[in-house]
Amino acid sequence: MRKFCQRKNTSLRNADVVIIGGGAAGFFTAINAAEKNPKQKIIILERGKEVLTKVKVSGGGRCNVTHAEFLPKELARNYPRGEKELLGPFHTFMTGDTIDWFAKRGVVLKIEEDGRMFPVSDSSQTIIDCFLTETKRLGVEVLLNQSVKEIQKVADSFVLTTSSERFYAKKIVVATGSNPKIWKLLEDLGHAIVPAVPSLFTFNVKDSRIIDLPGISTEASVKVLDAKGKTVLENNGPLLITHWGMSGPAILKLSAWGARLLAPLHYRFSIKVNWLNDLSEETVFEVFKELRITQGKQTIFKYAQFGLPKRLWQNLVKATGVNETLTWAEATREILQNLANQLTAGTFEVHGKSTFKEEFVTAGGVDLKEVNFKTFESRICKNLYFAGEVLNIDAITGGFNFQNAWTSGFIVAQNL
Ligand SMILES: Cc1cc2nc3c(=O)[nH]c(=O)nc-3n(C[C@H](O)[C@H](O)[C@H](O)COP(=O)(O)OP(=O)(O)OC[C@H]3O[C@@H](n4cnc5c(N)ncnc54)[C@H](O)[C@@H]3O)c2cc1C
Repeated sequence: MRKFCQRKNTSLRNADVVIIGGGAAGFFTAINAAEKNPKQKIIILERGKEVLTKVKVSGGGRCNVTHAEFLPKELARNYPRGEKELLGPFHTFMTGDTIDWFAKRGVVLKIEEDGRMFPVSDSSQTIIDCFLTETKRLGVEVLLNQSVKEIQKVADSFVLTTSSERFYAKKIVVATGSNPKIWKLLEDLGHAIVPAVPSLFTFNVKDSRIIDLPGISTEASVKVLDAKGKTVLENNGPLLITHWGMSGPAILKLSAWGARLLAPLHYRFSIKVNWLNDLSEETVFEVFKELRITQGKQTIFKYAQFGLPKRLWQNLVKATGVNETLTWAEATREILQNLANQLTAGTFEVHGKSTFKEEFVTAGGVDLKEVNFKTFESRICKNLYFAGEVLNIDAITGGFNFQNAWTSGFIVAQNL
């Protein structure tokens, strides 16, 4: 019965450009394309009953639009997949352009201490309202409940079949995010798809040293070890202890750079944490020897050193087996050595991952070798363009993933 209904309405609707996907990249492409060439008939096809759903929930509902990094090379460094390919495009459209683009449309962005940029309203609805106003003003047609099921190449044009209609388009833009069904259709058109794995997740760690400390954050350096104990990845930054384990930029960056490496391990591996960030074990040991002289009567357990949060210090001291009443003067060389090791090279076991609720993405998608990054057009199939996360491009957390959507969408729009 359903099949019969699907086939009933087979009239063909025409457009110059059909954009598949009503997300960040789809809207940005449509608005810029309509501005560049107002005569083009542009349609956005969205499978859901609402558009821009990810924008809505992004950045904890505040939408982290971009990141205050103004050098193309530095900006590109935040993309574990796409660094090389995005460098050229960033010379055409990057952070400063994003800020101007929104400002011209009445949306002012602000910079937070860590470089993340949000609308001053602190509401993602501001971005959504801006996009909806712009598409309406420019006559872009936005059609909901139109899940594209089939992409047929007809000479240099396309016929798209959705659950209820068919569309003829001279050019199409695929802006469907990480959607396996569309990747399958693209494979049928001859594209290679890099298999998807999650990126941007937190590490599950159950360990007495951190179990009662959720909410505590400190600058740390973290290494991922292979089965032989060799360091395979390393990053530093704020490390946040959570109810389930570890999060914060230090961990999220590892999850992004290690997305491909950690998936086959089923997210079970060892990490080494230096709670003192860049201080070496030797330096810490020397400081302890000094403390033996200068603070000899003080108990080790009671006063945190190196500015570490007190409860974390005490957990680490306990884990080294130091008696709570032991003073610096009483501590043997071996005890001090063990404590220095615990603080700078403690090993923790990771048993799985959890979703980072503020932002997560998928690594994988259209193979970058098959895309011309001057235009974001397919090298395999003429008049087929890509924007956003459908490509095998993803970034660390901080507004970089949306910047990819804005940059690719803008460049596609100039080249349609
Ligand atoms: C919870 C969360 C918070 C995030 N916060 C941030 C943040 O603050 N800053 C940041 O930079 N990044 C953030 N991200 C990542 C960011 O949202 C994505 O990188 C970005 O949305 C990608 O945009 P896109 O348009 O490529 O894909 P999407 O936003 O996923 O949009 C794709 C659209 O295509 C539609 N679609 C899919 N298949 C079809 C089909 N067959 N037919 C028709 N339509 C289809 C989908 O329904 C969807 O609306 C967050 C992600 C999540 C999940």
